[in-house]
Amino acid sequence: GAEPRTVRQGEPRLTVVSGPSGVGKSSVLSEVRRLAPEIYFSVSATTRAPRAGEVDGDHYHFVSTAEFERMIAAGEMLEHARYAGNLYGTPRKPVEEALAAGQPAVLEIELQGARQVRQAMPEAQLVMLLPPSWEVLVDRLTGRGTEPAEVVERRLATARKELAAESEFDATVVNADVQVATSELLRLILGREQ
Ligand code: 5GP
Repeated sequence: GAEPRTVRQGEPRLTVVSGPSGVGKSSVLSEVRRLAPEIYFSVSATTRAPRAGEVDGDHYHFVSTAEFERMIAAGEMLEHARYAGNLYGTPRKPVEEALAAGQPAVLEIELQGARQVRQAMPEAQLVMLLPPSWEVLVDRLTGRGTEPAEVVERRLATARKELAAESEFDATVVNADVQVATSELLRLILGREQ
């Protein structure tokens, strides 16, 4: 059990948003971003290759493994994790600068990273985005039907593990409806009624 955190109303705070692949994190977070441009969204570093349409420095900082390891060794990462064979991490400085400047900050990261942030910054708020049901998530993760069964199985196993960590989070938001989930998440991030 975590200690209860006392957070003054309106105090800028760090919110970690996690949730299994297929839950709709990117749709909800792009709505949050559109509605509240005052929020700082962390840009992670990753060793994975850019996907079509991804812009370096915007979606991610795409770096080599050597550069990623240099950043860890230099203490530049707030947290980092390996996910699906690639390294992902949150550069510490921009997050600290945003919070110091009074901006609420959001990290969209996976479970191992969320746990590291909990350790490093106990005042951070951890929010898990949930699917309306396990069946809906299975449908979303298998829906395309074009991928090998073992790829789908691995994704489902990871999703199950992430959902099992729900009790480690301060709050959950169910993504049954993007607009409803967006307004719940906004309220948590901004720490006040909308
Ligand atoms: P994708 O490769 O699909 O963009 O991201 C894969 C997973 O990595 C997602 O669950 C995403 O939330 C997570 N992720 C993205 N950036 C970071 C990061 O900086 N740290 C950690 N721990 N996970 C991240």
